[in-house]
This record gives sequence, structure tokens and C-alpha cells, in this order.
Amino acid sequence: MNELFPALRTASSRTALRFQDRALTYGQLAAAAGTLAERIGAERRVAVWATPTLETSVAVVAALLAGIPAVPVNPKIGESELAHIVSDSAPTLVLTEPGTELPGPLAALPRIDVDPYEGHEEYEGTESGATAEGSEPRWTTAGPVELPPEPGAEAPAVIVYTSGTTGRPKGVVIPRRAIASTLDALEDAWQWTADDVLVHGLPLFHVHGLILGILGPLRRGGTVHHLGRFSTEGVARELAGAGTMLFGVPTMYHRLAAEAGDNPALAKALGGARLLVSGSAALPLTDHQKITAATGARVVERYGMTETLMNTAVRADDTGAPGTVGVPLPGVHARLVDESGTVIEESDGETVGEIQVRGPNLFVEYLNRPDATAEAFDGGWFRTGDMATRDAGGRYRIVGRKATDLIKSGGYKIGAGEIENSLLEHPGVAEAAVTGEPDEDLGERIVAWIVPASDENGGAAPSPQELIDHVAAQLAPHKRPRVVHFLDALPRNDMGKILKRGLHA
Ligand code: ATP
Ligand code: MG
Repeated sequence: MNELFPALRTASSRTALRFQDRALTYGQLAAAAGTLAERIGAERRVAVWATPTLETSVAVVAALLAGIPAVPVNPKIGESELAHIVSDSAPTLVLTEPGTELPGPLAALPRIDVDPYEGHEEYEGTESGATAEGSEPRWTTAGPVELPPEPGAEAPAVIVYTSGTTGRPKGVVIPRRAIASTLDALEDAWQWTADDVLVHGLPLFHVHGLILGILGPLRRGGTVHHLGRFSTEGVARELAGAGTMLFGVPTMYHRLAAEAGDNPALAKALGGARLLVSGSAALPLTDHQKITAATGARVVERYGMTETLMNTAVRADDTGAPGTVGVPLPGVHARLVDESGTVIEESDGETVGEIQVRGPNLFVEYLNRPDATAEAFDGGWFRTGDMATRDAGGRYRIVGRKATDLIKSGGYKIGAGEIENSLLEHPGVAEAAVTGEPDEDLGERIVAWIVPASDENGGAAPSPQELIDHVAAQLAPHKRPRVVHFLDALPRNDMGKILKRGLHA
């Protein structure tokens, strides 16, 4: 269980990682990461300049082999956030792609330029990569690789910063045990095997792209095809080829949903995938419906966070769950708690409470934040800050975040998510976010932020009143927005999450 990547020790010629035209077999990855692990073995903590590349993947695997905590850093990060992460995590070395010009706080550190082909005996190929399907690998290695013994299950494996959706990113200390248990639970939920080829277009500095997307296939002995940069063409190409699974965030599925209706090749490729997985934020119901209508396939959602890796997932064999995030993963315990701290026993699909979780998937602590760590726990239960309901099948449905998505208006508690879903069903709406603003009469008033759908016929955007009436008719009058603002785009972070703290009336 503690040995994170048994497949690395086999040094096989199966493709482990492919990033566009460059690939590594398990044997090559073991050689490169094993060699790098020896070089960094004496460090205290390493930062990884986390571009979507082979170099980043090799760097993280090397740090895991060496037992040195790795801190993946978003290469597009702003100056002040970078300064915060570097001073908070205090790395002693930075691992990066050759030729990178590192910004201020990281430029001052010793660096190693990662060579993904290091440690191989011989290179017989050209730039076209290692193992085109069915052909012999062009790289050869010296045979089974000597890898260092791995540290214990509780040792910190990676320190990943939260997305900063609700405040300053916090450094989350993730132990090896959490990585192993989450990945093995997903194996069970999704019948994930060594034969799966994951199509991946996510960044590598959050748990979704790095732990699920890179370490997940490596733990299974399977294969990653990373697109470098997400594109609908790339998804269509890879899924029409060897790809069996796709991991994406809602903004990606939104684009796929918008195109699949008029693009038969894309629709066919998506329809042929074994599993389409969405996570990191809620996938609007309209996108679920459009994808299913165009492709016959469904998108399964999973719910997780940096602190807990994965909590729940729609299982591969559960066909009754669109719009839910499924059931707790094996080993994970989840409960709903009301405002007074009482556990909600009902599984009625209606009673809303905060989700709390416990299990082997949990983090150790927030780095340098004993206050925040203590506050985050209720006994042994981690307070997720997310509000949800639970149905009779034990499936959770996320209503929104306690901090930003629960609006208290006119004596009602109203979830922003259902109003957003209703607004998105209006043909004049491309994107929608709902917030609560202080209001003298109501306590809070519901405010809608709308990106209008581009109208090919040159028609006018819907009027605020039309949208207000639409919600009042679909949901209930007290759930109607009182104010509607139109925007060109919603503020989003690198994972496509809507930054509600950037929306002010
Ligand atoms: P910060 O904690 O810094 O404010 P963040 O919570 O966005 O940022 P992450 O740990 O990357 O940082 O994201 C976890 C959050 O993402 C969850 O708490 C939840 O709100 C949201 N989330 C993840 N998956 C889903 C999903 N399938 N549906 C709805 N929300 C989701
Ligand atoms: Mg969070």
C-alpha cells in the first residue's frame, strides 16, 4: 500500500506518460526519476515549477521516490501569491524545465534543470516519442532500476496550495497515505485499470491534474496522454485514438458541450470514451444534458478538495446520478451537519447541511497555520465548508459553499447553485453567477451576474426583468434575483472556478 508506484519497479516498455510528441515508458520514467531522486535526496523541500510537461511529472515522481516533499508552483502565478508560497513553504531547491527564466523569489534558489531522458542507456529514436502504439520503444534502459526504499505512509508527500477561491491559498500537507488511498478508492469506483489511457488537459499544480491525472495512471500502471493545453480538437483526437477516459473541469465540458452538437467527430469520440469525469467545481445541469444529448455519454462528477483529495464520486456503474457528486469513496465517511452542529440523519434529497468527512484521504495540516488547522476540524471530522443534500441512494448533491453560495434572504436560506442552473437554462444566458449582497429589508438580496449568449441573429440580450421572471416562474418568487448585472466574462481562476469575491455590486 505504501509503495506508491509498483509499476516503476518493473521497468517495462509500456508507455507511462505522453505529452504531445514526447513520451516515457515506465522503464525510462524509473531511470529518469530514480536518477533525479538521488540528486535531490539531501534536500529539505523542493519547489517544482509546474508547467504541463514531462519535466514536471518526472520532478514530482523523483521527489516522491526521494521522500522529499514537493511543492508544485503555478507558473502563471501572480507576484504576490508567488512570494507568499515561496516564503511560506521555504523550498531549498527548485526543479524546472531547462531554459526557464524563473521569477524573483525562485530565481534566488539553487535549481536543477530536469532532463526526462536522463539515466537511459541509449537513444535510438527521433523526436516522435517512445512508444507509438504497437511499435518497439526506441529508448532502452539498463534493465530493472534500483529505486530507493520509500518512506512511511504518514510522511508528507506533497504540499499543494488551495485554489484561493475564498481567500489566500493555504499550503496543504498531503501524506503518502492519502494519495494511495484516494487513488485506490477511485480504482474501485471507476474500475480504473492499467489498460486505461487518460486524456488530460489540466494544469499540474492542483490535486486534480497532478494527483488524479498524473499519479493516478502511474499507480495503476496505465498511461497518460497530456494535451499540453486543453483544446476540443485535442480531446477529439485523443479519444478517437487510444484514450479511454477524460478528466476535465466544468469550463472544459462547457466548451465540449457547446461544440459536440455540431461536430460529429467530437460527439463520436466523447461517446466512445469509457468515462468522462468532471470535478473541481459544479458542472451545470445544462452542460450535462447537452453532452448526453449530443454523444449518448454521461459525465460523472467527483467531489474533492486539496485537503481531502477525493471525498465522493459517481461510480462507473451508477446511471442515476446526473447533477450529483455520487457516494463517499470506499474508506471515506461523510456526514451532513446543520447550523447548530447537529448531524442530519435524513437522506431526503432536500435537507441541506455542511458536508464533513473523515478517512485515510485527509491531509495532515495547513503549513504554518495551526489556527486554521484546528478550526477546520470538528472532532476528527474535517469541515469542508461545502453545503449539500443527500438522496435515498446516499448520493450527495453540492448546493454551494457555505461562505459564498448560501444566501440568507427574507428569512429563507437559498443556494446560489440552483438559481445559477435556472438562469443557465434561459437561451439568452451563456454564463451565470449568483451572489448575496447586504439589503436593509431582506438581510441579503439575490444578485445575478450574467454573461449573455452571443446572438447570431443580432438580437438584444435578455432584459433583467425577463431573467427575473424566468427564475421566479421556474423556482419560486423568493428565489428571484433582485438585481441583474451584465458582464463580458466572469472572473475565474486557472481551474475555471468562478471567483465570487471578485463580484461586487
Ligand atoms: P480555497 O480553499 O483556497 O478557497 P478552493 O476551495 O477552491 O480554494 P480547492 O481545494 O482546489 O480550493 O477546491 C476544493 C473545492 O472545490 C471544494 O471545497 C468545492 O467547493 C469545490 N468542488 C470540487 N469538486 C466539486 C464538484 N464536483 N462540485 C461542486 N464543487 C466542487
Ligand atoms: Mg477550499
